[in-house]
Parts: sequence; structure tokens; C-alpha cells
Amino acid sequence: MLTVKKKDKVVVLCGKDKGKSGEVLDVFPDKGRVIVSKINFVKRHTKPTRTDAGGIFEKEGPIAISKVMLVCPKCDKASRSKFDKFSDGKKVRVCRKCGELIV
Ligand SMILES: [Zn+2]
Repeated sequence: MLTVKKKDKVVVLCGKDKGKSGEVLDVFPDKGRVIVSKINFVKRHTKPTRTDAGGIFEKEGPIAISKVMLVCPKCDKASRSKFDKFSDGKKVRVCRKCGELIV
């Protein structure tokens, strides 16, 4: 079950970007990976084309979903969100710290 989605604020739990936070830019559910703004920069080399001079630029690389934790927008604390079921069968994310719904 995916616990993060686009536009979520997350904090990185391990690796070189440990402790940094950013916004989820993209989610790849089948690969279990996410792309987070300003996190896990990887260098890309591009060849010059007619419209582009080429060179080296940095771009966010995907990281494992298990390495990030959702930050509650209400209490601003990192929290493993849990899923609660509504009466209509809809699953919603709830902050474990403050009990607030995370939309
Ligand atoms: Zn909270």
C-alpha cells in the first residue's frame, strides 16, 4: 500500500540525503520509488545537440518509498501514516501523531 503521493511533503530517512525534506514530484508504484524535489541529485551527462550545448547537469533520481516518511502538514512531524477505513469503504491517511487526516 502506497503511503505517499504527489505533492506530499516527505523527509528522507537514510542515505546521503538523510534528514532532508522535499516535495514528492513523482511516484512509481510498480517500482516502489518516488522522486522528491532536491533529493538524491544524480549527475547526468548530455551530448550536445543543435538546440542544446550539452554537458553535465543534475537531476533528481528516484529513491525507494521505504526510505521516505510522510510529513504531516498539520503538526509538521514525520509520521508513518496509517490508513483508516471510512464507512463508505474509502481509505484515508491519518497522522499517528496528531490524528489529523492527511489529504
Ligand atoms: Zn500530524
